[in-house]
Amino acid sequence: MDCIFCKIVNKEIKSDIIFENENLVGFNDINPVAPTHILFVPRKHIDRLDNVESEDIKLIGELIFQAKEYAKKIGLNNSGYRLVFNTGKDAGQAVFHIHLHLIGGRLMSWPPG
Ligand code: 5GP
Ligand code: ZN
Repeated sequence: MDCIFCKIVNKEIKSDIIFENENLVGFNDINPVAPTHILFVPRKHIDRLDNVESEDIKLIGELIFQAKEYAKKIGLNNSGYRLVFNTGKDAGQAVFHIHLHLIGGRLMSWPPG
């Protein structure tokens, strides 16, 4: 399968990995939109949030849990941060292996563009 995030997870291509455990990998976004911009991905290939199944509920919970733990570890829990899943065309999803963006370190506007 030609999936760039599977290749990052399997270390077939280089990335700046900042977190990993048996289920998840976290790495710095190659094109950061804020001082902190990390992508948390499951090792399991799931193309988009719509295709998450009930068997994945724990995995998705862990994805969110580890992202907020990491945010706390680097002190973002005080200033705040944003967790984002872009899903499909209108949201601008570009990589079809689900990933949770952890974005922080600057003031963000709402609604998003
Ligand atoms: P999406 O729009 O799909 O939610 O976001 C995909 C994100 O993946 C973008 O922020 C983009 O900069 C990042 N990205 C795409 N290719 C690579 C890559 O090869 N390495 C890393 N570290 N990030 C990537
Ligand atoms: Zn993949």
